[in-house]
Amino acid sequence: MHDQTVTIPLQDGHTLALPVTWVHTLVIGSGAAGLNAAVQLHALGVTDLLILTEGLDRGTSYNAGSDKQTYYKLSLYGGEADSPRALAETLYAGGSMHGDLALVEASYSARAFTNLVAMGVPFPRDRFGGFVGYKTDHDPRQRATSIGPWTSREMCRALTTQVRQRGIRVRERANVTALLTPGEGAGRRCVGALALLDGTTWHAYLAENVVYATGGPGGLYRTSVYPEGHTGAIGVALLAGARARNLSESQFGLASTAFRWNVSGSYMQAIPRIVSTAPDGATADADDAREFLRPCYASVAELAEQVFLKGYQWPFDTHKIVGGSSLIDLLVYQETVLRGRRVYLDYRRNPDGLSLSDLGVEARAYLERSGAMQETPFERLQALNPAAVALYRAHGIDLAAAPLEVAVCAQHNNGGLAADHAWESENLTHLFPVGEVNGSHGVYRPGGAALNAGQVGGYRLAESIAARYASRTLDRTKAVAALTQTTAAMLDWGARSQQTERSWQTERAELQARMTRACAHVRSGQLLAHALDEARAQWQRVDTRGCRHTTDTLGDALTTRQLCFAHLVYLEAAAYAVAGGVGSRGSALVLAPAGSGTPIHPALGDAFVLQPEDERFRAQVLETEAAADGSITSRWAPRRPVPPTDAWFETTWAAWRADKPPGGDGKDS
Ligand SMILES: Cc1cc2nc3c(=O)[nH]c(=O)nc-3n(C[C@H](O)[C@H](O)[C@H](O)COP(=O)(O)OP(=O)(O)OC[C@H]3O[C@@H](n4cnc5c(N)ncnc54)[C@H](O)[C@@H]3O)c2cc1C
Repeated sequence: MHDQTVTIPLQDGHTLALPVTWVHTLVIGSGAAGLNAAVQLHALGVTDLLILTEGLDRGTSYNAGSDKQTYYKLSLYGGEADSPRALAETLYAGGSMHGDLALVEASYSARAFTNLVAMGVPFPRDRFGGFVGYKTDHDPRQRATSIGPWTSREMCRALTTQVRQRGIRVRERANVTALLTPGEGAGRRCVGALALLDGTTWHAYLAENVVYATGGPGGLYRTSVYPEGHTGAIGVALLAGARARNLSESQFGLASTAFRWNVSGSYMQAIPRIVSTAPDGATADADDAREFLRPCYASVAELAEQVFLKGYQWPFDTHKIVGGSSLIDLLVYQETVLRGRRVYLDYRRNPDGLSLSDLGVEARAYLERSGAMQETPFERLQALNPAAVALYRAHGIDLAAAPLEVAVCAQHNNGGLAADHAWESENLTHLFPVGEVNGSHGVYRPGGAALNAGQVGGYRLAESIAARYASRTLDRTKAVAALTQTTAAMLDWGARSQQTERSWQTERAELQARMTRACAHVRSGQLLAHALDEARAQWQRVDTRGCRHTTDTLGDALTTRQLCFAHLVYLEAAAYAVAGGVGSRGSALVLAPAGSGTPIHPALGDAFVLQPEDERFRAQVLETEAAADGSITSRWAPRRPVPPTDAWFETTWAAWRADKPPGGDGKDS
């Protein structure tokens, strides 16, 4: 089904008849964020909608989780005082986050959460109906909740039911390869997208508004806990010139690799034995298996305490390395990446010599209160969280029988595209990034805040679109001209790719290895500068020559192209931040130049010298943007404070009655 056919001239003299569909608002991506955006748009009367997605069962929300996947929200429990202001201050305290975005995420939090409850997502309540909560990382209150390992998947299922009930159109097996953004400078707007359907058929979508919900950059790293096959598509928006923010801020942490899953929470609180083997040692039962962490701690009880703490201090945190639980991540990194060994969590046995009675007060009290003082780590895990055991079993891994291989993996990008507090791109109007691809977060975020931000954004952009962009304003001639030009360029790239030597698999493996080597949780000015040179050369090659593919894998080649550009932009941003002296913060350890800095730990050797954080940068956000000529620039911009929350009711009500759009004009911070 389409509304129009446009003839695209090709370089070889042939033409392509390109089907074009017109829709008022196009939603790209069907994770928890995209689905909720569609539902909220529909609820506000924007009903000419289409969701374009790789699949309703694709993406991170549907396929990722942890022992107890966390949803963070305004506290709604018991006698604990909380307020949108207090929550906004917590989010803002993470550093490098705009205060108005923090306030919007806080103000809509309860509404977004109760919407999920009303749709049937079974968040636990006590017998009086209170939404009981727990504390997560960077959370001073008990604002977190969970329904178990699959919180975001259940959110997707409930939202998909809503999408179906409302009759919102969904096109699966769509790979969006370009955004259409005619115009110049501040006048540029997004008018639609070009997609490859079913891997073979080109189709264009022209739209008043584009909601961009393509998730985090899962395809950028070799060592990754993003679901297999989830690449994200931030590169498509970066190629279109969309401004990005805080790209250098990501989260990394320990995860299993055979089946990609975070080993946070109960997986560590059960205190497994952690061993390494030679690269060819198939299991932790191999003869050379050794408890490599043990010599780095004064006693086995101290080691056990740190392993336990890692459970709820899951992301690698540069402020928790010296004397803290993040030393474990670095020791695992040293063992796997630098020494080439393999690391396993073994739930069958305790760390050598451990007696639970020697544990520190916090760990022992937790295990006792949870009824989890059993003899083996497996029994303790079973008592703490049977779903965590069942989950691996469902994926063919029996933790009672075999050890689990782990590595320090990329998990979440706090940064992403830069949008204002109406959730509209800062420099491409009518483009609304939402979910993980929207870089609203700063250096630190409370665990679970990603899911909150994704839901809140759907409300916010729906209100913005319904209030400001409900009418039809598209200049059809300009839109068709933009799509003709973009499609011709894409097709030419595809044709060039057939003659090139290097396959898309080779190109993708190269960029992923580079990102894991230079732009993961261990960085340095030298590593980044070298990686940047290589990345520029790779992008030049991929852009001009393409990457080889078969007829069936043109989509994979195009995805590799956008990933290649994205990795260059991420490296530019990270190199700029490190060269400017930001130091070690969040999940990114910056190694100091030789002869300076603080050695981290004797077990890590001389190369591991930490460059301390320069906290002045927490008052800035990092902005990065690609120009039309392909040049990439970064700059620090001051972050906006949390706006005052002392509005007077009568005047606010008057403005509301006068139909002032909910996001103001979206630019007024
Ligand atoms: C292991 C793990 C554990 C996590 N745990 C937590 C947690 O406890 N709490 C928390 O808050 N967050 C957590 N996160 C992060 C959180 O799950 C994600 O940030 C969130 O689910 C992202 O939702 P989204 O809707 O933005 O993107 P996704 O759910 O990834 O959806 C993206 C959608 O876009 C589609 N798409 C992508 N590219 C294209 C394209 N080119 N064309 C068409 N469609 C496309 C995908 O198919 C998918 O439908 C975790 C992440 C991981 C990996």
